[in-house]
Amino acid sequence: MTNSPTATAAPAVAAPAVSGPVRERALALPSGELPAYVYDLGVLRAHAESVREALPERVELYYAAKANPEPEILTALAPYVDGFEVSSAGELAHVAQAVPGRPLAFGGPGKTAAETAAALAAGVARFHVESVHELRMLTALSAERPAQAPPVDVLLRFNLPLSEGALRTSALSMGGRPTPFGLDPSEADDVMRYLTGGSCPRLRVRGVHAHLASGLGAGASLAVAESVVAWSVRLFERHRVLLREVNVGGGMTVDYADPAARFDWAGYGAGLARLTAAHPDLRLRIEPGRAMTAYCGWYATEVLDVKRSHGEDFAVVRGGTHHLRTPATKGHDQPCAALPVAGWPHPWPRPAARGDRVTVAGQLCTPKDVLARGVPAPGLRAGDRVVFALAGAYAWNISHHDFLMHPRPGFHFLGG
Ligand SMILES: *Cc1c(COP(=O)(O)O)cnc(C)c1O
Repeated sequence: MTNSPTATAAPAVAAPAVSGPVRERALALPSGELPAYVYDLGVLRAHAESVREALPERVELYYAAKANPEPEILTALAPYVDGFEVSSAGELAHVAQAVPGRPLAFGGPGKTAAETAAALAAGVARFHVESVHELRMLTALSAERPAQAPPVDVLLRFNLPLSEGALRTSALSMGGRPTPFGLDPSEADDVMRYLTGGSCPRLRVRGVHAHLASGLGAGASLAVAESVVAWSVRLFERHRVLLREVNVGGGMTVDYADPAARFDWAGYGAGLARLTAAHPDLRLRIEPGRAMTAYCGWYATEVLDVKRSHGEDFAVVRGGTHHLRTPATKGHDQPCAALPVAGWPHPWPRPAARGDRVTVAGQLCTPKDVLARGVPAPGLRAGDRVVFALAGAYAWNISHHDFLMHPRPGFHFLGG
């Protein structure tokens, strides 16, 4: 038994199609400017436009900024989204500066009083209230505002039950089980009585927010949306409050084993259209992150060394999971393509893979620094380039950049 990554045991991951501009840039950059994140903003715009077109009327699209908050990404997305979801005062200030004047929804657990005050001052469009404590804090802070200030619009985030099927297929579940997210459904009636009983005159409850799971396909996402809406309708009817909005969250899946696959936005949009048709007063909102930006980002690097270890080929590349933590975090192989480079500028021999499959590892001194196992790259050599796909979401910004003090990657925004 061994706990080292093995090439032979690896599941097959389809090789990504590398966009022309990304391939050119990955090959043109000198070694010293690798690794680099290369974003194809043309790809991002086309994708965002297709998502927007798949969504019916009365369904708003907010982008969850935490997936990738690069200002160039936010700017490219801005024409296609109704607003942005932020989950800290840091994100709030950053997004407000990158895309000024756009509606913001402020969510996330553990909001501090200072953050809440900053969000009130910034005039965020929606507060996603995560707990009774937050509701009381928001009530008090909103009451301190000048009398002429508009009411504060609130969605109550609930941790609602998820179906067995959704729990099983999701990559990550924030709801449907004990978690720190949202209000417990058992608190719903008390919270509604508090809100409607006159104790929070400056708050206006608009509806419900539920971001319950990520990694769901369109069918499962739609089933979750339907059950969240049905539950919310019943709650608001019981308290004779008009349910104006339900935010059904993000979590649309990205298939890291098949980089050409896409969430079925058209099917999801058609299902949401049936839902809004059944509830004529209701506005729906979705707030995807990963499925918006994953496809436009690439991590391009160079093979530094190729060696054989206990019968398997390893390629060590410049950089690693301290830049692209996604495969280590999610436990997958990041889809990648090798781009051969003909020349070898050094007087010493150029190492090359002997077998058909190579495990691609980074420069960190830990066996966890593996980007992809079992990559079909026969003859891969030092000096060849490797580009990793689906690196546009939860990639650079979730990585532990300072571990081992290697240089930071470059950043390139193509088609800007
Ligand atoms: C992270 C998050 C999202 C986005 O999730 P994705 O899986 O990236 O689509 C949306 N809403 C909330 C509340 C989140 O925490």
